[in-house]
Amino acid sequence: MSHLKNIEKKRYLFDLIDRLEKNKILEKNQLCELISNNENTELSEYLFNKARKTSKIYFGNKIYTRGLIEFTNYCKNDCYYCGIRRSNTKAERYRLTEDDILNCCEQGHELGFRTFVLQGGEDGFYTDEKICKILSDVKLNFPDCAITLSIGERSEQSYLAFAKAGADRFLLRHETADDEHYSMLHPDNLKLENRKNCLFTLKKLGYQVGTGFMVGSPFQSVENLADDLLFIHKLQPAMIGIGPFIPHKDTPFSDFSQGMLSLTLFLIGMLRLIIPNANIPSTTALGTIDKQGRERGILAGANVVMPNLSPVKVRKKYMLYDNKICTGEEAAECRFCLSNRIKSIGYELTVDRGDFIALDKLKA
Ligand code: SAH
Repeated sequence: MSHLKNIEKKRYLFDLIDRLEKNKILEKNQLCELISNNENTELSEYLFNKARKTSKIYFGNKIYTRGLIEFTNYCKNDCYYCGIRRSNTKAERYRLTEDDILNCCEQGHELGFRTFVLQGGEDGFYTDEKICKILSDVKLNFPDCAITLSIGERSEQSYLAFAKAGADRFLLRHETADDEHYSMLHPDNLKLENRKNCLFTLKKLGYQVGTGFMVGSPFQSVENLADDLLFIHKLQPAMIGIGPFIPHKDTPFSDFSQGMLSLTLFLIGMLRLIIPNANIPSTTALGTIDKQGRERGILAGANVVMPNLSPVKVRKKYMLYDNKICTGEEAAECRFCLSNRIKSIGYELTVDRGDFIALDKLKA
């Protein structure tokens, strides 16, 4: 009897994956059911196989590469999980000059990067004018490159000015789609509603928008994760970045444990089926909790890597979490190492900009 029940249960779970692939979404309780079974290797292999096949349809065996430039670690926010939060007095703060940033881009361009991601804390020093000047100078010098901003919440007016100055894409993880959970990860002045509004505004302005969340963040439930997937389905972003939460020793969350590898991979696989042609990075955080983390992310359905282009002298200072990898190497070394890792699993790095094209436009 229990044997029969097991077979029935198995069939039900595999069927849910088929339905996720077909309908691109499921009911919340069904999403929960799948997520709760992420450690079932037969099930996850079934999912990853479908996710890889889906990636292959849109990207072949190509992996896009984005050059990440972490240009400031000053931040006015105090997110409980983040190593560069305002209250972390131990963080050694730095800002890159416009020249530093252009040098990073030049080095990156020589290495074959055609997308630069400018990421930083929410640093008021970089006024809209300063950001716009940086954007237009990067565009002027590297007109064949896409620019992605990741500098947090700003007004619609600012986002519009950035787009006009040359920003093509914007990364802003929603972090968690549940209000109560959001308030357990952030101080009172930060509101999920504002974060979500920023995302819809960015989309309206024509940005390729990226969102995402941490896996295994403190107090996160399976229901929270299902809500994250439902929110992503609703937003239909061009990019989805997820990675395990990793504690940072000088934050209020220093004693929490890190997010699970298997769960992160499983969610990457599910996200690939939810937005089949989304750009999904295999993140540095994933590579930090497992030596083969980034390779495994690709084999679970990711199609992007984001090696670091920041000057080596500041790398260790952009410590969002403990033990972050690739903080000692030069950009060229990182690129070479990643390229080899990707080749070892049968994929290839590409210099393509990798712009997102919505499915309905693809068909039209
Ligand atoms: N200030 C920008 C960039 C934030 S850093 C913004 O607000 O969007 C980029 C991402 O790193 C964050 O969105 C968060 O999801 C992730 N991050 C921060 N602290 C982390 C931690 N301790 N473990 C794992 N990921 C973390």
